[in-house]
Amino acid sequence: MSNPTERATYFVPGPTWVRPAILNEMTRPMIGHRSSEFKDLFVRVIANLKTLFGTTQDTLVATCSGTAILEAALINCVPRRLLVTTCGAFSERWRAIGESLGLEVDQLNAGWGNAVEPAALADHLTSRRGHYDAVTITHNETSTGVTNDVASLARVVRERSPDTLVLVDAVSSLGGIPVRFDEWGLDVCLASVQKGIALPPGITLFAVSAQALARAAKKPYRGTYFDFLNYKKHADDGSVPSTPSIPHFYALDRQLDDIINVETLDARFLRHEAMREATIRRTASYATLASDAAHASATVSALLPNLPAEQIRDRMKARGFTLGGGYGKWKNTTFRIGHMGDISLDDLNAMLDVLSEVAGT
Ligand SMILES: *Cc1c(COP(=O)(O)O)cnc(C)c1O
Repeated sequence: MSNPTERATYFVPGPTWVRPAILNEMTRPMIGHRSSEFKDLFVRVIANLKTLFGTTQDTLVATCSGTAILEAALINCVPRRLLVTTCGAFSERWRAIGESLGLEVDQLNAGWGNAVEPAALADHLTSRRGHYDAVTITHNETSTGVTNDVASLARVVRERSPDTLVLVDAVSSLGGIPVRFDEWGLDVCLASVQKGIALPPGITLFAVSAQALARAAKKPYRGTYFDFLNYKKHADDGSVPSTPSIPHFYALDRQLDDIINVETLDARFLRHEAMREATIRRTASYATLASDAAHASATVSALLPNLPAEQIRDRMKARGFTLGGGYGKWKNTTFRIGHMGDISLDDLNAMLDVLSEVAGT
């Protein structure tokens, strides 16, 4: 994956750099989504998605960005009461969507830059606030560069309230940080593909538990486009409810094969950890990590530089490198380095060489 003619210079935490070979897949001729060719491709993709999510339950693909499946998870799985755990902009999105759907939303806020503490979640769930239909967790908070301990958080929910569903946003973790859907006892887990999966934006991958599907079956109105039961019915038949982005299916088929069989998942996770370590170590003399170092993300780092963040990004742009800006209320003070997807450690190091010239003092 490190052909020198294909070097990454784009370090934004989504959309991420896409390999030319993957872009090429998207130019293949169309096939019908009810054809046997599509069915073969679909069956392969779904099987590989089970490996990616760590599940034997249902894995599905929808043509939409990740936010649509955040909304769909709430529509399908939450009749009334939702607890949202937050630590930055993307985890707060669950709250905004829940309120837009008229749900009763409570929030457990760890504060920007922190991780959600399992003990705080346990306290919240045992302090007589009543029963929740679901709890949301954001695996990797892209605005601050924090990875939440989903295994422990989900265990807290499972132990205290077995019929409360666990809904997980893995948009910027899947493909870069391990996700173990069955082992962790998750009910819905989703990721759009323009972050750790390193495809162009346009489709979203998700896993749903039997418990989540049973909950959906009890909801009389689930809309049409994002009805999980309709997705499952069609998937069991080797297709999707309506015309999908077929070019994305070509690219996903190739990319899943490359991730699982060529690079391998374990090597991919180690590469992301090495990219986190290189980023933190090599920027330490001119920038500090903006968030809790104990939960530093393997896919994105938010940094507080000595020089103004905008100036650093402008200078990098002039040198041919694109870095991410700060997000939300951290917009002016931080910049972000996306080190996820198919970026190699060599390409990251080449960028960090230039960054230390530009930002170092
Ligand atoms: C990017 C991102 C989203 C939004 O995904 P879209 O595909 O743009 O809708 C949601 N959650 C997290 C954690 C993200 O990083």
